[in-house]
Amino acid sequence: MLKDNHGRTINYLRLAVTDRCNLRCFYCMPEEGLNWLSRKELMTYEEMFFVCSLLVKMGIDKIRITGGEPFVRKDIMKFLFSLSQLPGLGQVTITTNGVLTAPLVPELKKISIHSVNLSLDTLDRNRFFAITHRDELPAVMETLEQLLRYDIDVKLNAVVMEGKNTDDLIPLIHLTKELPVSVRFIEEMPFNGEGSHYKQLAWDHIRIFNTIKEAYPDIQKIPDPPFSTSYNYHIPGHKGDVGIIAAYTRSFCGSCNRIRITPQGMLKTCLYDDGVLNVKDLMRSGLDENALQRSLMDAFLKRARDGWEAEKNRAEKLPVHESMATIGG
Ligand code: SAM
Repeated sequence: MLKDNHGRTINYLRLAVTDRCNLRCFYCMPEEGLNWLSRKELMTYEEMFFVCSLLVKMGIDKIRITGGEPFVRKDIMKFLFSLSQLPGLGQVTITTNGVLTAPLVPELKKISIHSVNLSLDTLDRNRFFAITHRDELPAVMETLEQLLRYDIDVKLNAVVMEGKNTDDLIPLIHLTKELPVSVRFIEEMPFNGEGSHYKQLAWDHIRIFNTIKEAYPDIQKIPDPPFSTSYNYHIPGHKGDVGIIAAYTRSFCGSCNRIRITPQGMLKTCLYDDGVLNVKDLMRSGLDENALQRSLMDAFLKRARDGWEAEKNRAEKLPVHESMATIGG
């Protein structure tokens, strides 16, 4: 079992396959988009597969494919298929905005994608446009329907934003009455590609919970699965569950089992660090598998204790502000 210097198990990789996205969520990137990476700055599928295989040999048993928007990268389905065949890899999961996903759901089912996290901040078409700058709510809802139709485990992730979607908390929870989905509310983080609008967190996990509790006084705490980043709840009589992710308050670092690789091959051993090793550069410099494994292990043994320490250790001392699209959420 792969362990870090604080005795924490590492078994979960989040791999961002592109920085490009077909939405422009204001909390993630500027409306004009980012300075997109060129193709040669991106890891190739062969490089991604090589590093995934190595990490699986080292102890990773779950890989989440994210982005940017994973489905905007050409040939992503072929890559998902090869990952799904990787011996020793227990779960392949995906985080998507759902804009292009609906027609691909039957194939996702066929290749045994374990679960899909669908980002959905609002059920209101006007608010969706105001948040994402694109009129794509119907496409996202179609993806949700397809995922349920094909019986793929779905989590809906909603970032809670003052003045933008706090009226959606209760309607989103209402979905769990009839649908077997988990709706998770996420504290907004400063990863917005510019650092401008983020001032302080208006909706922390406590305020989110109190608001839900007012509407559903009989909401019950349920056990959190191992390594869960969410505090999980159930409303009696509902088919689905509710979760709250204290992403900014960072209260789950003590059991963090995840590492990240960005589209340009940067390994992050904490969401809040600024990258500890570039695996793409190492592979392109001709490092062999054993040497790459040693470099990875070395990075795992220097992991920050928590997100606060990782943020303090960043080379660039400014508060974090890069886009989540370059990290993968
Ligand atoms: N495009 C895919 C999607 O929308 O799910 C995957 C990548 S997206 C960067 C992953 C997740 O990060 C989304 O659920 C998004 O809402 C979340 N995210 C992006 N910026 C964020 C921020 N500043 N604070 C909290 N969550 C954020």
